[in-house]
Amino acid sequence: MKPRDLPIYELESAIVAAVRGTGRLVVQAPTGSGKSTQLPQMLLRHGFLSAGEVVVLQPRRLAARMLARRVAEEVGCDLGAEVGYQIRLESRVSARTKIRFVTEGILLRQMSFDATLRGVSALVFDEFHERHLYGDISLARALQIQRTTRPDLKVVVMSATLDAGVLRDYLAPCEVLVSQGRTFPVRIEYLPKAVSFEHDPVWDVAARECERVAAETDGDFLVFMPGAYEISRTVQAIQASRELRDFICFPLHGELPPEQQDRAVARYDARKIIVSTNVAETSLTIDGVTAVIDGGLARMARFDPHRGINTLLVEKISRASADQRAGRAGRTAPGVCVRLWTEREHPSRAAQELPEVKRLDLAEVVLTLKASGIDDVANFPWLEKPDPRALERAEMLLADLGALGARPPPAAQAELRPGAVALPSITDLGRKMLRFPVHPRYARMFLAAAERGCVRPVALMAALTQGRNFLLRGVSREVEKAREDALGEEHASDFFLLMRAWRQADRHNFSLDVCRRLGIHAQGARQVGPLFEQFLAIAAKEGLDVAEQRVDDTAVRKCVLAGFSDQLARRLDAGTLRCELVHGRRGVLGRESAVQQARLLVVAEISEVGGRDGDVNTILSLATAVEEAWLKELFPDDFRETRSVVYDEQAKRVVTRRERRFRDLVLEAKASSDEAPLNEAAALLTQEVLAGRLKLDAWDENVEQWIVRVNRLAGWFPELEVNVLTEADRATLIEQICYGELGARAVKDKEVMPVLRDWLTAEQLAVLDDYLPEKLTMANGRRSRLTYHQEGPPILSARIQELYGIEGKFAVGHGRVPVKIEVLAPNHRPIQVTDDLTNFWREQYPKVKAELSRRYPRHEWR
Ligand code: ADP
Ligand code: MG
Repeated sequence: MKPRDLPIYELESAIVAAVRGTGRLVVQAPTGSGKSTQLPQMLLRHGFLSAGEVVVLQPRRLAARMLARRVAEEVGCDLGAEVGYQIRLESRVSARTKIRFVTEGILLRQMSFDATLRGVSALVFDEFHERHLYGDISLARALQIQRTTRPDLKVVVMSATLDAGVLRDYLAPCEVLVSQGRTFPVRIEYLPKAVSFEHDPVWDVAARECERVAAETDGDFLVFMPGAYEISRTVQAIQASRELRDFICFPLHGELPPEQQDRAVARYDARKIIVSTNVAETSLTIDGVTAVIDGGLARMARFDPHRGINTLLVEKISRASADQRAGRAGRTAPGVCVRLWTEREHPSRAAQELPEVKRLDLAEVVLTLKASGIDDVANFPWLEKPDPRALERAEMLLADLGALGARPPPAAQAELRPGAVALPSITDLGRKMLRFPVHPRYARMFLAAAERGCVRPVALMAALTQGRNFLLRGVSREVEKAREDALGEEHASDFFLLMRAWRQADRHNFSLDVCRRLGIHAQGARQVGPLFEQFLAIAAKEGLDVAEQRVDDTAVRKCVLAGFSDQLARRLDAGTLRCELVHGRRGVLGRESAVQQARLLVVAEISEVGGRDGDVNTILSLATAVEEAWLKELFPDDFRETRSVVYDEQAKRVVTRRERRFRDLVLEAKASSDEAPLNEAAALLTQEVLAGRLKLDAWDENVEQWIVRVNRLAGWFPELEVNVLTEADRATLIEQICYGELGARAVKDKEVMPVLRDWLTAEQLAVLDDYLPEKLTMANGRRSRLTYHQEGPPILSARIQELYGIEGKFAVGHGRVPVKIEVLAPNHRPIQVTDDLTNFWREQYPKVKAELSRRYPRHEWR
């Protein structure tokens, strides 16, 4: 089929009109319609690219490369001339490039470095239905840029299937153009009964189904497998089959060299079987396929909370994805699709995949957004908002890595609304980290490694954390012995053991024999190699020295700390493996860890394991011993040394607590009781006394009376210039009493009155006793106690018998303060309050006497 005959051309005039009009467009057309290859060329031919290029964002590197190659061929230029591509480690572009296919964060980074997108006329978001993280975010950012600095920018969103309604609202105002394309019916077949791939590997099942379908059909086959390993096993199984000997068979996945990828899509006279990852689901069209064998699995990127990074795990594909795969069999003629699962199982699969923004770690994109000055990431115009906890986690990690700081520039601070929270902005270190197209953890490790000349081992370590641990656990004594002999002793880092094990396996080309002897999962170890190479390539591209050189272990361990400081742990005691971690977490160091002696360590893996009785144990593994001095060296701002004086409830003493903290983790706390400054101690003890938790035994009723007397004196006789004793004065007095002591015991026994008396001058003391005496001497020579109150007159209390012979009224304060008399019964119960005794004897006494003399006949009754 000539390109011009592709179905997309039915939409050409509508596309051109929409691009010219609103400048926003959604194109929905089935796979193979010509969207990816033809639309960029339409933009070129209709003059939209005279002032700049079109950047086409692709979710997959393999697709980006192959599309660029195909389009260059159709345009008639060399790859990298008018048509080029740019993927993480490869770039074929030039000053002449008008159509540039890119992947992942390349476009978002470009937008963060230049918000005007100079030299770019149009952006195309391809395969948008896959809802890749960078597709979502780059589109949101593109719309912001179009709305502000670049109203002339053209934005096109393309996909095979799409919920166009949501997008239409999000992009409004925009055109939505739909093409039905041309498709043929596809017959769906399922396995008659369930197969466990553990026992009957998926590649063997796939090869058998190929054999069965081969007899019934013409045309080529497309087999879907999750990854490179399963693909190579499938290719082997197919090539070993006698029934399939007339077929040629090719693998197709991103890790193959480009020539092999091209070979898979080329045309042949013989029938062919392509065994591919889901790159062939919608990204690439392979002509001539009439049968699809769908393994039903895919490698899915997902945040792995154990390792704090995104990892690829093999998972079951959704029903929507299965339908797309089936569609690949009906492009040119009716076809058949065999699903390697049962019809019964089918409805239990997810209807759709969750968008990546909902399942991936966001640290890298948050950092890129911050680099664009978007500090308030929660209110970024997301097509679909991520979980707020995921954003928080990303910001926290970035802050721990030193990429974000809580310091908004002064200008921004002024603009902040009152009460608004300052949002963390990117730091200089964060900007440096952004140069590396890897997870910020690894970017931070690379920067630390560059300073210390250990980029190579750090790249290997990064690769080691990406895959599953290939050193098997719970191995036999024999294997343990072999490991000891081959790998030597290790106490500083589990990584060092892993690195030595990997090198051993690598040296023996991952021979199953050697691996079995050392308890190494050969396949897992083999996967580290390509990752290692990738990390090295990224480092080299940024000008880091990746040469092999002698480095000391300390430098490498410091780099681990740089990348994993958010997982710093301190052993709680020497007897157990229990640890406390930063951010208030706890866990237990795995028993198989080689790092059993260190007090401080960082762990690269935290996993939750269900224990007995349903409790969850947090197991820490992949540990590296670190030293406290390194914390200060690498994170000076997060290290705090504090000295505080506190009252220790348990010891009932004021103690000095010296603490060293890394963020919220207490590295060491020491308490000593002898060096607390006495004034701070007195203040703390006073707090205890005032709160009623500590009692001064000598502070009794008499003391309170004395204070009342002073206060009444001040109130009744202002001319004496005695000050009222306030609550604050009371605290000052207590502080004076406590001064010199540290323990509660000593405070309890302290004398009180001398300190109180010192509060007044000698003259004031004399005046106090003179004006408001504690006791009053009456006419009969008896001395009776006076009680003073906050309000009302002083009260003299006395038994009737003590008052015989006394008449009239009393007063203190040189006759200016009348005293009330409280007359008590023989049992000290008050029977009458009066201010004039003469009056009492006459009016009330006769009745009182009659009553009381009967009850107390033995007392004197006059
Ligand atoms: P869409 O993006 O709508 O799925 P494409 O533009 O990728 O469609 O492909 C349109 C057609 O172009 C395919 O059906 C195929 O015939 C052809 N084509 C695309 N890429 C290649 C290639 N690398 N090699 C051969 N043919 C290709
Ligand atoms: Mg396409």
